[in-house]
Amino acid sequence: MRGLSQRVQAMKPSATVAVNARALELRRQGVDLVALTAGEPDFDTPEHVKEAARRALLAGKTKYAPPAGIPELREALAEKFRRENGLGVKPEETLVTVGGKQALFNLFQAILDPGDEVIVLAPYWVSYPEMVRFAGGVPVEVETRPEEGFIPDPERVQRAITPRTKALVVNSPNNPTGAVYPKEVLEALARLALEHDFYLVSDEIYEHLIYEGEHFSPGTLAPEHTITVNGAAKAFAMTGWRIGYACGPKAVIQAMANVSSQSTTSPDTIAQWATLEALTNRESSQAFIAMAREAYRRRRDLLLSGLASLGLKAVRPSGAFYVLLDTSPFAPDEIRAAERLLEAGVAVVPGTDFAAYGHVRLSYATSEAQLQKALERFAEALSRAQV
Ligand code: GLU
Repeated sequence: MRGLSQRVQAMKPSATVAVNARALELRRQGVDLVALTAGEPDFDTPEHVKEAARRALLAGKTKYAPPAGIPELREALAEKFRRENGLGVKPEETLVTVGGKQALFNLFQAILDPGDEVIVLAPYWVSYPEMVRFAGGVPVEVETRPEEGFIPDPERVQRAITPRTKALVVNSPNNPTGAVYPKEVLEALARLALEHDFYLVSDEIYEHLIYEGEHFSPGTLAPEHTITVNGAAKAFAMTGWRIGYACGPKAVIQAMANVSSQSTTSPDTIAQWATLEALTNRESSQAFIAMAREAYRRRRDLLLSGLASLGLKAVRPSGAFYVLLDTSPFAPDEIRAAERLLEAGVAVVPGTDFAAYGHVRLSYATSEAQLQKALERFAEALSRAQV
């Protein structure tokens, strides 16, 4: 058999997806496992959204959609970005994609030439550097530090800028650190994009999941330089529906839509009608988001106080539903620590592919009973590690 492409051989599969698939498989085999792996709300999609999908299906809205999305949803997106994010975009400056992931994937395909550099703030979501490399770009890591609450230092970012810098990726609230970047920091990063003429990629998929602090969209300061990425998955518990969205300069959005037209054609039509309901039935959606946010806040507090009472170290997250746990009490490195925790019955994602060495990522998008069980198992794993 002829070999695979160099490009695809250089690409690592997603650790978050792989570890979660493994946890689900072990559970299917009957293993009693607490899975803190998936970055996925455990709530069901709200009923009013499911009902809209049923209506679309019955009305025969089952055919291709335009590559950039159905016009009704793009109008609703322009309104959402204006109202919630202060971004003055027109419908033609918005795009609907197959999850937030496709928006990012298409974006890097649309803006990168071979050797173009993209600054990513480490720890980062596992897919950013892989998508950059797949598009021929070079990811350039700039660290954020636990002792600084994983908030980026704009001066450190500035020192990494070169004439080849094409983009900077920011993700606030952050996966995997849970950091919510202060407005001044995002403003400073937007100013760098303007001064040095590179794109700011603002991944705002966790915007509604903030427990302390406020969300700020840096695209308000640098509209011609910013591509804002978001999606229905985290806000409306719609991970499996695969609807993402983006807004930004028209030429970039058009290029991203061209990539869709040659790959997926369009996102799922029924799911787009359901997302339209999620965005426009504000009363029901806001109530759902508020309910979910409160549940995540309680879970975060339960998990953090449990970890602290075991003497374990974790930086307090202000948003999203992840926490990075220092694994030094369990094992010499995060991979072995994740294995020990799995032996104790808790599945977690090792920090390696997030560049969060010496840490594992815990997702607290699971019930309080499961979190309580996980804490008991952490205690067992700790006592085993200490003998
Ligand atoms: N974003 C989620 C996570 O980090 C879902 C899995 C993925 O696409 O990476 O767990």
